[in-house]
Parts: sequence; C-alpha cells; structure tokens
Amino acid sequence: VPSELEAAKPILEKINEAGFEAYFVGGCVRDMILGQAIHDVDIASSAYPEEVKDIFEKTVDTGIQHGTVMVLDHGEGYEITTFRTESTYTDFRRPDSVTFVRSLSEDLKRRDFTINAFALSSNGDVIDHFDGLNDLKKKQIKAVGVARERFLEDALRMMRALRFASKLDFTIEDKTRAALKELAPNLEKIAVERIQVEFEKLLMGQAAGDALRDMVDVDLLGHMPGEKGMITAEHVSHLANLLDKKQPTTLPVAWLLYLGTASLSSEELSKELQGYKLSREIMGTVKRLAPIVQAPDKATVWDLYQVNDLSDSLLQALDILEVDEAVQTHVANTLRNLAIRSPRDLALNGGQLIKEGLATPGPALGNLLKQIEHAVVFNELDNNAEAIRAFTKEVE
Ligand code: ATP
Ligand code: MG
Repeated sequence: VPSELEAAKPILEKINEAGFEAYFVGGCVRDMILGQAIHDVDIASSAYPEEVKDIFEKTVDTGIQHGTVMVLDHGEGYEITTFRTESTYTDFRRPDSVTFVRSLSEDLKRRDFTINAFALSSNGDVIDHFDGLNDLKKKQIKAVGVARERFLEDALRMMRALRFASKLDFTIEDKTRAALKELAPNLEKIAVERIQVEFEKLLMGQAAGDALRDMVDVDLLGHMPGEKGMITAEHVSHLANLLDKKQPTTLPVAWLLYLGTASLSSEELSKELQGYKLSREIMGTVKRLAPIVQAPDKATVWDLYQVNDLSDSLLQALDILEVDEAVQTHVANTLRNLAIRSPRDLALNGGQLIKEGLATPGPALGNLLKQIEHAVVFNELDNNAEAIRAFTKEVE
C-alpha cells in the first residue's frame, strides 16, 4: 500500500471504531492497483456528514450539501463523502438530488467506470463489484452498468471516458463506445468549464493521440465548445499523429497545438479561446504564438523579440510540430542571442535622453525610443549609451 494511503489509514480506522464503514474509493484505488502516483485520497463512508463531524476534532464543510466533509489530520486534508445515490437526472448533467445511504454497493453503482468503482478497506481488501480488476487487465474503459443510461444521466462522463483512455492508455469497450457515438450530441448540455477540465487531462495524457482519434470517431468533436466546424477532423487527426510521437508538458502548449495551429483567422481564434473560457494566461500565450507557429520560417527577429518571454513554449511547440530542424535552430538561436529582452534593457532610457538634452518630452520621444529599440533588436545599433547618443543625433 502506497504511503499516501498508509498515512490516511488511521482515518478509516477511527470511523470504523465509531461503528461506521469507511473505504478508500475512486482514482486512488485504481492508481494504487496500477502502481501509479496517487493525487488525491478520497474516502467514502456510511457515516452521515454530521456523524463524521462528531468523530473528528478538526473538520471543514467543503461540500456538505453533497455529503463531503474535509477532515484535517497531520497537516493533510481528507475528503470524506457519505455513501450516496443520485436520483433521476432530467437535464443530462446533475442529479436532481442526492440521497445518503448506508450501503457501499449503492455508492459504487453511481460511479462512472468499472476501474473507478473500486473500494479499498483499511485491512487492504479490494472491493470490486463490477469486474474492474478484469478491465484493468484488459486495459479498457467500461461504464458501470448500462453505458447509454450512464451517459444519459451525465453527459460529462463521455468526455471522462476519453480522458481516462488518454491518461491510462486504455481502449474504450465496445458498448461504451457505441453509447458515446449515439449520445455525443448531449455533450452540448454540459458547462464549458467542466468539459475544459476533462479535455485538458485528455490533451496531457500519455495516449492523447488515440483519445483525439476517438473524439473524432465518436464525433464528440462536433459537440465541443466553440463554434461548429472551426476545429476540423483533419486538424485533430493531424495533431493526434504528432502527439503519438511527442507530447506537450504544459497546458499553454497543449492549447497552442489544439487551437493555435488550426489555421483560424485571429478573430476566429479569439472566439474559440473565449468559447473554451480559457484563462488569460493561456489565451495570451496562444494568441501571441499562433502566428509564429503557423509560419515559423517567416518570423523576423522583431517577431521573436515580441514573444521572448514565451520562448520555452514556442520551442516546445515547434519541436512537437516537427518544424524543419534548420528553422527550429534558427528560431532558438535568434531567441538566445537577442540584444535585449525588453525596452527596459536599453542602455539609455527616455528620462536619461531628456536629461542629456537629446530629446524633449512628448509623442516624438516615444517614437524615438521605438526607433532605438528597433535598431538594437535588429542588431543595427549596439546597446551602449555612446552608440545610442550618436544614433539619436543622427535620426533627428
Ligand atoms: P484523477 O486521478 O484524475 O483525479 P479520479 O478517478 O480521482 O481521477 P475524479 O474526477 O477525481 O477522478 O473523481 C473521483 C471519483 O468520483 C471517480 O473515480 C469516480 O468514481 C467518481 N466520479 C467523478 N465524476 C463522476 C461522474 N461524472 N460520474 C460518476 N462518477 C464520477
Ligand atoms: Mg481524483
């Protein structure tokens, strides 16, 4: 048992001592069995939220309305969720209500995939009601129960199927795939923010190429956020082939590859970025680098100077895109050898030029500084005070 679970074992034991059941559930059990790193330790219990709060000294009501209480222990926070069932779904997204129950098996039934429906007891027994161990062996993503019913309940699960396939390098079981094909249009009922979370995990997964091909195959692509038809099957298939070989290590690069190389106009690209409700940082990176990754051989030293704060992202994207080696080397060298990285690096600033009587405040000064910056970046002017003084007198 990995140390993360070992450290949380006393929590299970304490709940057991109080007369309730408690188990590790969800991704942590799956990842333990696979021998993979564990992110968060989720605990499910027959104790109701108020009962959990009575057992532990320090708790926080992180999601008490759906049955989750956080227990603070040795500087760690553990989420304990009461066993629950989710009643009728009328909108393809959220259950109309959750009902707390005392039975583990009811709780496991509501989970999305067989490999996410394990429970692990404090004495190390794995509870596997849906043959998830067999699916782990077969490396397949299979819905718990009837796939089409599960996707009808919550359409986000369709995106989650692809993201787990990507993360684990698993295939999607036939009936689950058939249900994806049939119900893909329901993805449009789901909030963009929730799709974004799952799609980012898909893009960063080890089998992102396969997952993107699946996304095209079952036509979830046609129901993703953004405007219809902007991101084409051809683009996604091409990207999938590239991601088979090399993968992005950061989200801005992942989005740059997905949206920034799709031959969109800058207006179309802005719309797509907004459609996905991406962060300012990601939008900025994608917008600024898109023109360069689409035509890196045409990038001037000035173009590269403008994005030198994003050098790492740019070089990683060019590498994944298999841009001509000579072009990649040229871009890397240009970025590395820039005379300055920003106007602040100029040997003389506006204030100094005024003080020395070489310039007067006003719009002309801004213009002069731009000319100096330009000349220095293009290596037509050395970045030292003497050279800049001489240049200033010359252009007057
Ligand atoms: P990760 O390691 O990426 O966090 P995870 O399996 O822990 O993977 P979470 O999204 O954190 O995934 O969800 C925790 C668990 O809750 C899942 O393993 C699954 O059992 C259940 N779950 C989460 N979302 C859903 C959903 N939409 N429908 C059904 N069950 C879900
Ligand atoms: Mg998790």
